[in-house]
Amino acid sequence: MSRQKIAAGNWKMNKTFEDGLSLARAISNSELPGSVEVILAVPFIHLKAVRDMTLPARTLHISAQNCSNHGSGAYTGEVSAEMLHSISVPFVLVGHSERRQYFGEDADVLNGKLEQAIAQDIRPIYCCGEPLEIRKAGTHIAYVKEQLDATIFKLSETDFRKLVIAYEPIWAIGTGETASKEQAQEMHLAIRNLIAEAFSPEIADNVSILYGGSVKPANAKELFSQPDVDGGLVGGASLKANDFIQIIQSF
Ligand code: PEP
Repeated sequence: MSRQKIAAGNWKMNKTFEDGLSLARAISNSELPGSVEVILAVPFIHLKAVRDMTLPARTLHISAQNCSNHGSGAYTGEVSAEMLHSISVPFVLVGHSERRQYFGEDADVLNGKLEQAIAQDIRPIYCCGEPLEIRKAGTHIAYVKEQLDATIFKLSETDFRKLVIAYEPIWAIGTGETASKEQAQEMHLAIRNLIAEAFSPEIADNVSILYGGSVKPANAKELFSQPDVDGGLVGGASLKANDFIQIIQSF
């Protein structure tokens, strides 16, 4: 995959079925710039309906927020990558800090999810990022390197090329506090350099790295204008059509 400009909305556990459809409709009916890939990471119940609604828009895609690390079987409550593939879901979030923190997803589980998703031709949007105490200690780059070493750096070159990466400092998620453009650029460049070392400069140059953490209309432009920031993974502000549309138009 070559590097793309991406605005991804993560609805998390928000929106009833009808409210979700209205939000997706407002976004798909808006003037979307042809040069930006827009991804809506919606709850499972919305996936098929939102996909059907957004199908005509070439640059508007759905994503699941999760998939199982198992293929199929007695895993009550889980949804497999194969099931997602059966309704043509092209992306899935893997490694979001809320899943790591509240559902105990460690590197083994994340590797299982990456494997399942890739086997079903679903592109993982792999999330990484440090907690506040690590940022304060100044060891944030080493912390993220460990996350990458334990997971996506174990992939083959071919599979790695399918990824989108999202850097999401945990201290900025849902807190209203955003990384400065300098902090975001520093980490994105560091991640790109790590990828160049682990794989190759060409692969590093072609992967899209999104910033996530309280992105809003007021700060999207300056974040997205950083040379190594290819877009955003947006939580709260993706729940309001006007805010998210402004963010999409911030490139
Ligand atoms: C997220 O959940 O991925 C996120 C970045 O949330 P927020 O934009 O609300 O900080």
